[in-house]
Amino acid sequence: MLIDKHTNFAREKLSFNEIDEGFTTKEAIAEAKRCLNCPKPLCRGGCPIENEIPNFIQALAKGNVGEASAIIAQRSNLPAVCGRVCPHEKQCEGACILNKKNRGIQIGKLERFIADFDAEMGIERPKPVPSVQGKVAVIGSGPAGLTVAGDLAKLGFQVVIFESQAEAGGVLLYGIPEFRLSKEVVRREIKRIEDLGVEVKTGVVVGTDMTVDHLFADGFDAIFIGTGTALPRILDIPGKDLIGVIQATYLLRMVTLIRTEKIDRKETPINTRDKVVVVGAGNVAMDAARTALRLGASKVTVIYRRTEEEVTALPSEMEAAKVEGVEFQWLSNPTAILGAEQVTGLEYELQEIDENGKLRGTGVKKIIEADKIIPAIGQRPAARIVSTTEGIEVSDNGYVITRERPYGMTTRKGVFAGGDVVHQPATVVLAMKEAKKLAAGIAQYVEAKKLLENC
Ligand SMILES: Cc1cc2nc3c(=O)[nH]c(=O)nc-3n(C[C@H](O)[C@H](O)[C@H](O)COP(=O)(O)OP(=O)(O)OC[C@H]3O[C@@H](n4cnc5c(N)ncnc54)[C@H](O)[C@@H]3O)c2cc1C
Ligand code: SF4
Repeated sequence: MLIDKHTNFAREKLSFNEIDEGFTTKEAIAEAKRCLNCPKPLCRGGCPIENEIPNFIQALAKGNVGEASAIIAQRSNLPAVCGRVCPHEKQCEGACILNKKNRGIQIGKLERFIADFDAEMGIERPKPVPSVQGKVAVIGSGPAGLTVAGDLAKLGFQVVIFESQAEAGGVLLYGIPEFRLSKEVVRREIKRIEDLGVEVKTGVVVGTDMTVDHLFADGFDAIFIGTGTALPRILDIPGKDLIGVIQATYLLRMVTLIRTEKIDRKETPINTRDKVVVVGAGNVAMDAARTALRLGASKVTVIYRRTEEEVTALPSEMEAAKVEGVEFQWLSNPTAILGAEQVTGLEYELQEIDENGKLRGTGVKKIIEADKIIPAIGQRPAARIVSTTEGIEVSDNGYVITRERPYGMTTRKGVFAGGDVVHQPATVVLAMKEAKKLAAGIAQYVEAKKLLENC
């Protein structure tokens, strides 16, 4: 057995199977019973979509999982996903009053338990609402698109999702690795949205296969763009085009495609015994580093130009990466990727904090050996739709500009946008929060449009 010398963690234990098994029924009810049902619940304020947290916990404490699930469904179309990947420690759980006493309620795990129990037992089934309000096209099936689609269907709209990939789900399916979020869970939640009457058309690239104008010509009253941030930010240093430089999002997508047998295992971008260096320290970097370990890399090092206190990854993600054997190097700014054709290493300059607390280079350069370099320094939107549609303005960085009334409408009448394509790479729940407001904005717009048409 290969034991990591730093952590005593057995590498063979690493697999792509979902790590956290969640609560048993007994554990979930015992945890729910700890909740104080506070008159002014801080947890609810900490939830971006204002889930009725105390109410669903109380229902669960009484053993009424169906009622708990129905309460969650009032605010969320993706409870099993949120229960797994939301940054609860920074949101509802972080705000729970019981943190002051002992330990906060594990709200995420309770939400996950309720959603999983409901799905396994088939307790609560959404009923389609007759589609009479109008017709809306949703481009992109990530959390933003799925939420807009689900909310509009519940309001009585006919909704069609157009997704460029072979399968719906966006980052939930092609980004977040299986060991954190099972693909079956994503598929299950999408199926529930389809059960609301939403139609999903995959393998359609809007901007190439059809345009926004075609969609209007097909009779859609409004169009929502939730296309996320598909393009990786490039680590713009010498050697960036060498063989062996693999963008983190590309790696994660390839691994999903290999594991779902859409492409051959031989295409795996990382070989057993590769020395891998990941640049960046957000959640994407942690996912890439932990994935590289699972693919058999002999050593994985995360390099970050700032300090450990400034990482953007969730503390729990970084902790998991450390336990699994990922090494970290702080205050190290990459300056060149080394190699003739193939990567052989990374040169970096040590950084220090000056007397004003600012980061500065020390002039001391070092080299770390590497077979693969994985930049994970952010993403930005592609321009495929805005470049083929007149009248949609974007910011200097390519993010779509939207307005407050009707909420989320772009500079083109009837075209709305939300999620990462507007707000920069953020979180699943923030994309959902926006999408909920957007669904209301779209409904308001279509209602006004129909009234004017009838006049
Ligand atoms: C690796 C990774 C890990 C992450 N981990 C977490 C986490 O643990 N917790 C968390 O809360 N957040 C996490 N995030 C962030 C979160 O996933 C995103 O903020 C969220 O998915 C954004 O949702 P979205 O719907 O705006 O975009 P996406 O999820 O990016 O969905 C956009 C969809 O649009 C489709 N599309 C794009 N262009 C077109 C087109 N022209 N025509 C048709 N379809 C198109 C894409 O194929 C995609 O399916 C992570 C992100 C990444 C990349
Ligand atoms: S703050 Fe904590 S204890 Fe109070 S209602 Fe919310 S989960 Fe329960």
